[in-house]
Amino acid sequence: MATAKKDIRALTKEQLRNFFEQQGDKAFRGNQVYEWLWQKSAYTFDDMTNLSKDTRHMLETYFVINNIEVTTMQRSSDGTIKNAVKLHDGLIVESVLIPTATRTTACVSSQVGCSLDCRFCATARLKRMRNLNPDEIYDQVVAIDKESKLYFNRPLSNIVFMGMGEPLMNYNNVIKAIDKITSPEGLGMSPKRITVSTSGVPKMIKKMADDEVKFNLAVSLHSAIDEVRTSIMPFNETFPLNDLKEALQYWYTKTNRQISYEYVVWKGINDSQEDIYAFVKFCKYIPCKVNIIEYNPIDDGEFQQASSEALQQYIYHLEKNRIVVNVRRSRGKDIDAACGQLANKS
Ligand code: SAH
Repeated sequence: MATAKKDIRALTKEQLRNFFEQQGDKAFRGNQVYEWLWQKSAYTFDDMTNLSKDTRHMLETYFVINNIEVTTMQRSSDGTIKNAVKLHDGLIVESVLIPTATRTTACVSSQVGCSLDCRFCATARLKRMRNLNPDEIYDQVVAIDKESKLYFNRPLSNIVFMGMGEPLMNYNNVIKAIDKITSPEGLGMSPKRITVSTSGVPKMIKKMADDEVKFNLAVSLHSAIDEVRTSIMPFNETFPLNDLKEALQYWYTKTNRQISYEYVVWKGINDSQEDIYAFVKFCKYIPCKVNIIEYNPIDDGEFQQASSEALQQYIYHLEKNRIVVNVRRSRGKDIDAACGQLANKS
């Protein structure tokens, strides 16, 4: 029976070196292949031009390169680009390039669908099919870096894990991908330019703190009142705010780094004075900044953006308490590329 070929990018550099030695070849071939796979993003063995034809053929008999394919690229009137990304097994995820005057940010997916059930998010309506592998996350970044160079004449500057999926429910692979993105043997990006956004999984936030990760952490809070948060993010029942607060305090004690809260204000849901006071109180637990995100409507009209007066009230009370707050206008809305709109519609 023929054994299935292995995904070559699941191997470490050391394992590749050992493989070549076992084949009676020189270990440094492993370094060459590793460089092709990660630094030069080769998608076929034939691209590896400093290897002999026989070596390339031999690799092909043992391994596959499970590269992604950008099957559709849509461009928004504001310059935002959305990629539909086909994985080796035919499943699709989306990633987004967000240009500003000075930056290009890649918004990448970590799962096909999502493990969580936020009621305002289009991705939550796709069930979680599977976790992405480290190379599938890495490849989304490489694709956007290429597009950034092509369309904006500059490399990618920032990465946010705010695409499809809950990154902390695919923690090991997200960490492996970030290791490659930040390694000089990969893209060599600074971890300070990477933000992992989570709905708030307390156990995993503590693990990140223990692992002394160097990237930024954002938490999608949306409410600091348990009943309200559970009604819009049902998993809050399992991970209530008190556990989240404790995990964040643990994070701050260990890392000494501030976090950001993502927050959408909806009409009749979290736009009262009580909601504002609860949020301001929550913001005082550890040093933080706040990003108020504009709501991007998904099909039904159940959720509506709050009035600008309600937003002003939030801003007023946060600033009065010396909490930095930014209001994020959404980007790429016309192509369903904005936060919470990724649902493989294209
Ligand atoms: N699961 C992660 C990352 C993906 S969601 C997380 O929850 O953080 C990225 C951000 O978009 C989150 O802050 C999320 O709450 C927000 N979001 C989801 N649906 C949205 C919508 N319809 N409009 C605006 N923001 C939305």
